[in-house]
Amino acid sequence: MTARSLGNHRRITVKIGSALLVDRRTGLKRDWLASLVEDIAGLARAGADVLVVSSGAVALGRTVLGLTARSLRLEESQAAAAVGQIALAGAWAQELSARGLKSGQVLVTLGDTEERRRYLNARATISTLLKMKAVPVINENDTVATSEIRYGDNDRLAARVATMMGADLLVLLSDVDGLYTAPPALDPRAQFIPHVERITPQIEAMAGAAASELSRGGMKTKLDAGKIATMAGTAMVITAGTRMNPLSAIDRGERATWFAASPTPVRGYKTWIAGNLEPAGRISVDAGAVRALATGKSLLPAGVTFVSGRFARGDTVAILDPDGREIARGLVAYDAADAVRIAGLKTAEIEAALGHEARAAMVHRDDMVMSRALEAEAIHDEA
Ligand code: GLU
Repeated sequence: MTARSLGNHRRITVKIGSALLVDRRTGLKRDWLASLVEDIAGLARAGADVLVVSSGAVALGRTVLGLTARSLRLEESQAAAAVGQIALAGAWAQELSARGLKSGQVLVTLGDTEERRRYLNARATISTLLKMKAVPVINENDTVATSEIRYGDNDRLAARVATMMGADLLVLLSDVDGLYTAPPALDPRAQFIPHVERITPQIEAMAGAAASELSRGGMKTKLDAGKIATMAGTAMVITAGTRMNPLSAIDRGERATWFAASPTPVRGYKTWIAGNLEPAGRISVDAGAVRALATGKSLLPAGVTFVSGRFARGDTVAILDPDGREIARGLVAYDAADAVRIAGLKTAEIEAALGHEARAAMVHRDDMVMSRALEAEAIHDEA
């Protein structure tokens, strides 16, 4: 069995896009769901833990309510999600149970993965479900999530869940069959890419921004998901879910793009930092600080050139190099006002500037994760 097979993974998160599960006119695509669940049951029989991240609440709710013709206001789509989610979860439970599998519904809001305490709590619940051999069926709690505080797309939610649960594979089933050198709908010469070793800026440039009518994601959010997943040691595969039995189709060699997991994944606490979806601030640093970080040092105020955003001590910030590229993420030791005050100062000058005793590091190395772009350059520099 090759690595490009579902069969040799022990914990698999499968994300299903709305367009696969829901037909605008007829509602839930029951036969297709049954065929997917047949595949899931096969993986479970072979000993794998399977987690499902299922979209489709809003789309299904719209169909049930007869609200398919126009765009919805926020409160209408929240109501549609409430109607759709109950039907969606019911269908999953029935199909899984028909294959002898138990299931449990998990609805999460952004804070459940982004706040450390809630992250640990969500992880404990989901791992208990897995221990009980119940398939977690996960979605965003769209009924209460408002536009400012939400994942918005299930690609990144699925990546966050996969890494939180230590999955070794994330499968994104959608209406595209993989990554191309350009969005194939816009460029007929676009070439299919079967394997991505690392998501570089060149790879990201291939994504474009297109999304289908029913799904919120597009290739861009899939690559964002890929970065979160692969950095934490979770491989990812993107394939078209449109055919029946879409998971076993991957093992039969249907078209799919595989993204390799990092050979040096971040672990534990740092997985949570690395995958953080929305850094509260940005800290730009000079070339000297970039070099220091590449060798594993903490970020000192002296190397900071610019601070933006509103953040409190302990929030996640993105660290940018002089070209504006994100090179690391970490938990900041100062709030935004103090960070601005001490940016560029030498360690000996900090206390006088703040009027009280202070920590030396702006972001301590133990609370920081380097992005893989810098990793590669560090290797390159040493060669
Ligand atoms: N949570 C949304 C739903 O269930 C879907 C988000 C997405 O399509 O990525 O309708």
